[in-house]
Amino acid sequence: MSNTIISVKNLTKQYQAEQAGGIKNVSFNIDRGDIVAIIGESGSGKSTLLKSIYGLLKMDEGEILFDEERIKGPDEQLIPGHKQMKMVTQDFSLNIYAKVYDNIASQLSNTDLKSKSEKTLAIMEHLRILPLQNKKIIELSGGEQQRVAIAKAMVADTKVLLLDEPFSQVDALLKNQLRADIKRVAAETGVTVILVSHDPADGLFLADQLLILRDGELLQTGKPSEIYQRPKHIYTAQILGNAIVLAKADAEKIGLKTDKETVVFYPEWAEITSNWSSRRFEVKDVYYKGFYDELLLERNGVMVRALQLNRGAHKKNDHVQLNIGRFLEF
Ligand code: ADP
Ligand code: MG
Repeated sequence: MSNTIISVKNLTKQYQAEQAGGIKNVSFNIDRGDIVAIIGESGSGKSTLLKSIYGLLKMDEGEILFDEERIKGPDEQLIPGHKQMKMVTQDFSLNIYAKVYDNIASQLSNTDLKSKSEKTLAIMEHLRILPLQNKKIIELSGGEQQRVAIAKAMVADTKVLLLDEPFSQVDALLKNQLRADIKRVAAETGVTVILVSHDPADGLFLADQLLILRDGELLQTGKPSEIYQRPKHIYTAQILGNAIVLAKADAEKIGLKTDKETVVFYPEWAEITSNWSSRRFEVKDVYYKGFYDELLLERNGVMVRALQLNRGAHKKNDHVQLNIGRFLEF
């Protein structure tokens, strides 16, 4: 068995009515057991890509292989979708008046009742919803329902789990837990996870592979750390790290020389030092960020942002020395 479980080849899908929407000539491979995060702004084609992989959309060009077999479109089979994949969308598709246990167990056949109950209990344990088994869905929070939906999708020997915006209905603290649990469950069960998010924080922490989509085009794919450190497009640096983007003329006003049109750096690449050989900036504003401050700094009319880990060290109207240790040129 090859290590590649899914292979997307030159996939193009345009929606009839609109010229712009859809996916344009996208190709990539997914390794078995990996967590893959598809990141992009709203409307960039993330859900279109996910639905195409599952076999819900008729594609215009290209093909998608699952274990070297072509995935059939909705026009080629009675029930659209793929037997070894499951997709969890934001509506969860749960029976809200039925119990948690029954929602999950409904995915398994009755031929072996012992195995049915064992598998249901095991997946509930994995997702830490065992104590909820006798509650009705309608009695659960959004985050709990999300876990039940994932358990239901995974219980019947699912090889690939497709999650569309899994963290959108979960608040910050529970988000961290769900994120960690998805990573753990994937490692424990070997399931391949493809998740879609407009929030890069979801993907960076979780993923083995990141895909950056913009207007239906795949801009870059690779390990999160590689893409973050070496983005091929300004968009990628902006969406992943809230990067500072300066035109050549502005960059030169703060002492950054370039032959290219644009200079880009992350706030953490700019270091506030006591070194007098670095550049002097005025503090225009201080944003409280919890365990650090973000400073809005100005020099010669150019604004940049920098992090201040030593909270409260600088106030508005202070002057600081800034060393921009590293920057990218585009
Ligand atoms: P995302 O999930 O990244 O927000 P989508 O894949 O849902 O993006 O949509 C990508 C683009 O395709 C958008 O411009 C959207 O308006 C368009 N689109 C999505 N679904 C349809 C559809 N069924 N008919 C027409 N256009 C669509
Ligand atoms: Mg979407």
